[in-house]
Amino acid sequence: MSFEKTQWVWHNGEQTAWEEARIHASAYGIHYGTGVFEGIRAYGTPEGPAIFRLPEHLARLRQSAEVYYLQIPWTDEQLTEAIAENILANGFTDCYIRPLVYFDSEHLGIRALCPVSTTIIAWEWAHALDARKKEEGLRVTISPWRKFHSTMLPTTAKSTGQYLNSILAVRDAEARGFDEAILLDMHGNLAEGAVENLFLVRGNKLLTNDEHSSILLGITRASVIEIARHLGYAVEIGTLTLDDLLGADEVFLTGTAIEIVPVAEVDGRKIGRGQAGPVTKRIRQAYSEIVTGRNPSFKHWLTPLRRTATVMAAA
Ligand code: PMP
Repeated sequence: MSFEKTQWVWHNGEQTAWEEARIHASAYGIHYGTGVFEGIRAYGTPEGPAIFRLPEHLARLRQSAEVYYLQIPWTDEQLTEAIAENILANGFTDCYIRPLVYFDSEHLGIRALCPVSTTIIAWEWAHALDARKKEEGLRVTISPWRKFHSTMLPTTAKSTGQYLNSILAVRDAEARGFDEAILLDMHGNLAEGAVENLFLVRGNKLLTNDEHSSILLGITRASVIEIARHLGYAVEIGTLTLDDLLGADEVFLTGTAIEIVPVAEVDGRKIGRGQAGPVTKRIRQAYSEIVTGRNPSFKHWLTPLRRTATVMAAA
């Protein structure tokens, strides 16, 4: 993951050279963590680059913004056009796309409602994890940091400030030699990974939790639920405990960046056989075919870049 090849950043309506895409030191969002953002991926498909579940990501961006009183000064169509133009300007196919909407500079009183700025950064993306880890599975730890409860901060919103919780959990896990952290919720039940949702497999059934467990409602999570049901697995949604986790046949994490990654061990205790299990592998394979446009039943999840750009140019 690197910004090396990114030449253009879309900033407040203009494709701006990377070097010029700066934020002022007095920006309210920097001081108080009041920004909302998305993490989106584009993949190469047989018909050219396409963005995975873009309308769903833009809908979540808008919901996150509403919670924090941020009015996004762009329509979904304008943001779609901006993203498509930015990816094409940078010449990317497989890339990660990060729209960010934040309160900019005007006043630093806590009650200030500053002007809103919008930035879109895209960067070339190969793999978040090395292939071996993806196959072998992650060694995770239960974090001493709990996931904040949804009565403290809106866990279904994706805001910049809320990531301090994930960052503390990741740093602690890394310092203790683990690949990733799983956070419990305020009640001691499972919440989610630092930046991923959690799935357990028991027999032919998938188990996952929802917003009642203080999680971000991941778009990969929603996709996996649909894919699993399409493949004939039952999916149960409800509270999950540490016991459920340790006794599961398979466990995997889901997120836009890591996609679907098995968990091999939790604090040194093996899950199942301690490697990617058959259900995880089957769902991962299906997901990979879908995001790369090789499954016609799920083509509606893809926004082709060139068509978007052509339609926009003709309008
Ligand atoms: N939970 C948290 C806290 C996250 O940051 C992410 C990554 N956006 C996810 C879950 C997974 O969400 P998605 O599948 O939409 O990437």
